[in-house]
Amino acid sequence: MSRNIDIEALCADKGLRITEQRKTVARVLGDSEDHPDVETLHARAAAIDPNISIATVYRTVRLFEEAGILERHEFGDGRSRYEAVSENHHDHLIDVETGKVIEFADDELEALQKRIAEKLGFRLVDHRMELYGVALTRDH
Ligand SMILES: [Zn+2]
Repeated sequence: MSRNIDIEALCADKGLRITEQRKTVARVLGDSEDHPDVETLHARAAAIDPNISIATVYRTVRLFEEAGILERHEFGDGRSRYEAVSENHHDHLIDVETGKVIEFADDELEALQKRIAEKLGFRLVDHRMELYGVALTRDH
């Protein structure tokens, strides 16, 4: 999903001190349309600022996650991947053969989850839905 989320502005809202290097990581994250792990984020950030270390990227990502700016995912391969929290909720389907992550949103699914929670005596406040699949045809 195209994001272009202004993480810098979100940091300001949350009162986070924003250094140049954090700004670079924020920019890379805001521009990412996939679900990069720390190594990938570091490679992208280093293309902008060669002095940025993987430790800095790691710490920054943790900080953003704790501030609720980023969401961390683990799509079955034990690696943490990140994406900016967006207003448009979506779920993920993971191609288990290629590792490709496909985003989707489904109103019926959202309603069903609410109904299930209510049936169990709860008001749904959050959920995680990950589907793992094998492509029926290999041409997409
Ligand atoms: Zn996503």
